[in-house]
Amino acid sequence: MPRTKLESLLAVDGGPRVKKGPFGTGQRYGEAELEQLRQALAQQTLFYTGGKKVANLCQRVAGRLGVRHATAVSSGTAAVHSALAAAGVRPGDHVVTSPISDAGTVIGILFQGAIPLFADLDPHTYSFDLDSLAKTITDRTRVVMPVHLGGTPGPMDDILKIARERGCLVIEDCAQAWGATYKGHPAGSLGDLGTFSLNESKQISCGDGGLVVSESEELAIGARLFADKFYDREAEVLISPSHLGANYRMTELQAAVSLAQLEKLDNIVERRVAQGERLTEGLSGVAGVYPMLAPEGSQSSYWFYLLRIDPTVLGIDNQRFAETVSAEGVPCLPGYIKECIYQWDMLAKKQIFPGSAWPIAEVDYGAGLCPMAESILATSARLLVNEFHTDQDVEDQITAVRKVATHYTG
Ligand SMILES: *Cc1c(COP(=O)(O)O)cnc(C)c1O
Repeated sequence: MPRTKLESLLAVDGGPRVKKGPFGTGQRYGEAELEQLRQALAQQTLFYTGGKKVANLCQRVAGRLGVRHATAVSSGTAAVHSALAAAGVRPGDHVVTSPISDAGTVIGILFQGAIPLFADLDPHTYSFDLDSLAKTITDRTRVVMPVHLGGTPGPMDDILKIARERGCLVIEDCAQAWGATYKGHPAGSLGDLGTFSLNESKQISCGDGGLVVSESEELAIGARLFADKFYDREAEVLISPSHLGANYRMTELQAAVSLAQLEKLDNIVERRVAQGERLTEGLSGVAGVYPMLAPEGSQSSYWFYLLRIDPTVLGIDNQRFAETVSAEGVPCLPGYIKECIYQWDMLAKKQIFPGSAWPIAEVDYGAGLCPMAESILATSARLLVNEFHTDQDVEDQITAVRKVATHYTG
């Protein structure tokens, strides 16, 4: 068999794998985190009102983003919930968000007794389809919450304009978008509030943690009070809570690790951007494959790389595509979440609380609500982006995808 023929034989069919060696790895936690932890422990308090780490983290994050206020909380989910509470979301209010996200995007909406409504998405950037967004907003919509999926900020100028015209506040869910920008402004600084996650999977991590940022002092105070039982820690004596809050506090230990991680963020994002942009370049012009794109002015920080395929061109579905690429030694997963959020049992079967349809009893969810979002999940494949991957790893990812696509297009 001629050499080129063997080289093009798919690994699933017994051909040689594209990826010869292992992907680059590294230690994301090290001496800097240890030093911060030592300092935190030496304070002899791990509580945020007594120590300096949480306060310092909030100051640093606000400084980085160019906003006045940041509040540290226990998770990204807690951040979203606290932001919604700060925005004044009450039972019965509507919140318009994305059907493709982590559960953390809707958990806070539902615990507020509010109703999530889902706008459809753009086929290539996976951010809001603006026509669908405008149509989905109702008179009861208090908040519009774009999700910067995969680290890619949506078209924030348009989203803000549409939301403002309808009297809605905007919360950016930036859990996947540490270090991303829109028209030069950091993601999270564009909306009325921005929320971040520090869980293990995100660009930077303290195991679990989150932040709420805002320019407005009123919104910042709202988030801070809500996240700490509505106790006003600045008052001389502890005043009885005026409203229902949660305990979403961050400890000094989480903040200590986060401070060290924050120092690494620029380098991490620089590596991820280089990889993401190279993937887009390398996958452009491949028949049956569509790269992940960003809206004009949006700079993704590439939490993952979600490409799409055209099954009618390739003759295979995204499951088969992902398996075939993975067999080449390049991990590739079909889609992201299994189905759109509104298709999840808790919403589709109206069982938010077991045995209770509240607060969504009158809303119709279920398949067909956002056709493009459903199509995105059914036709996408996910490549891993990681700051420890080498340039060669990225070239191998491109080669593997091209090899598979070329095989199926003949
Ligand atoms: C990770 C994530 C969250 C939730 O963050 P946790 O820290 O896991 O609670 C919320 N929204 C999006 C888009 C996420 O990716």
